[in-house]
Amino acid sequence: MTQTIAVLAGDGIGPEIMAEAVKVLECLRDNFSLDIQLEEALVGGAAIDATGIPLPDATLALAKRADAVLLGAVGGPKWEPLDISIRPEKGLLGLRSELGLFANLRPAFLHQELVNASTLKPEVIEGLDILIVRELTGGIYFGQPRGITTLENGEKQGVNTKIYKESEIERIARVAFDSALLRNKKVCSVDKANVLEVTELWRDVVTRVGKDYPEVSLSHMYVDNAAMQLVRYPKQFDVMVTTNMFGDILSDLASQLTGSIGMLPSASLDANQKGMYEPIHGSAPDIAGKNWANPLATLLSVAMMLRFSLKQPKLAELLENAVSKVLQDGFRTRDIVGNDGGNYTVVGTKEMGDAVVARLQA
Ligand code: NAD
Repeated sequence: MTQTIAVLAGDGIGPEIMAEAVKVLECLRDNFSLDIQLEEALVGGAAIDATGIPLPDATLALAKRADAVLLGAVGGPKWEPLDISIRPEKGLLGLRSELGLFANLRPAFLHQELVNASTLKPEVIEGLDILIVRELTGGIYFGQPRGITTLENGEKQGVNTKIYKESEIERIARVAFDSALLRNKKVCSVDKANVLEVTELWRDVVTRVGKDYPEVSLSHMYVDNAAMQLVRYPKQFDVMVTTNMFGDILSDLASQLTGSIGMLPSASLDANQKGMYEPIHGSAPDIAGKNWANPLATLLSVAMMLRFSLKQPKLAELLENAVSKVLQDGFRTRDIVGNDGGNYTVVGTKEMGDAVVARLQA
């Protein structure tokens, strides 16, 4: 049966990286019998410009009807003056909450070829393979009350609320433990239980769920220490599970261990593994329109989509191997050119996409 993929390019470098993802998907459709149809829709700033809102009804309807959603990135300086309630990022948060995408999987995997592209020493990062499991539809990004109010004395006050129910913690913990069973069977839960009661509850619930997974070893770490440990000795981690905001920050940090934020994919899944797939980076307005953006995080997000939502593990592996081979062949976008004096072919966004397609067809 034909599966529908909602293609939401978004803003900044979004359309550039998405064009390469479409190229790859069309190659898989035409050469490897992947039975898909692609349907495009507007989200973020592009949607604001066209309709006045970041998540038009037509886009949400397509995302709900589709078998999977592929997203580029949203946001940019053009829309920053807008009220926070209608900024591009609201489109993204709306998709996550409307589709119930509570589990965000962010693998931080170092391709051996990029060991010199990171700012960290090779011996610290060689062999790095971490999965960050981030809670995505709760916590401080969604909690009420929120907003900026004016006090009686005229001073302004801002508030956001970090809030989690036991059920929300339990379901993300299960995703982490289930993922660990398929990997090195270690979960590190990251919280701030020494200061925040909400994460004291987080720690209790994760510990309780962990009892159902005797084969998995569970540890707990405060988020400030986790940030430090990720830079000091990242290979100690297998699966890390954490709250929405802590996961947002730690996964950006982890991206730098692997060389570039342009390399890291993500999957956001609901309870039935329907998902939205996107690179972890933003719309990179500083390089938009220059054909400089690295499309590999998006292509690796396509691989995650093939694996989790389209149930095509062989094609997922084929695409991941094609990306590895292109790196072995020495192709580099400018963000992943190492400092090892290697003889690289520095390419743009389009050429990197072409190289992956050529490898798929080889
Ligand atoms: P960013 O991730 O867009 O960029 C951070 C840095 O990484 C920039 O120097 C950028 O050039 C570089 N970079 C990012 N992706 C790259 C790629 N594929 N190839 C090469 N270099 C890349 O983060 P930011 O600058 O903090 O945010 C810019 C905009 O993106 C903001 O409007 C922000 O709200 C939005 N944003 C969107 C998402 C999303 O759509 N999921 C995520 C984060 C930020």
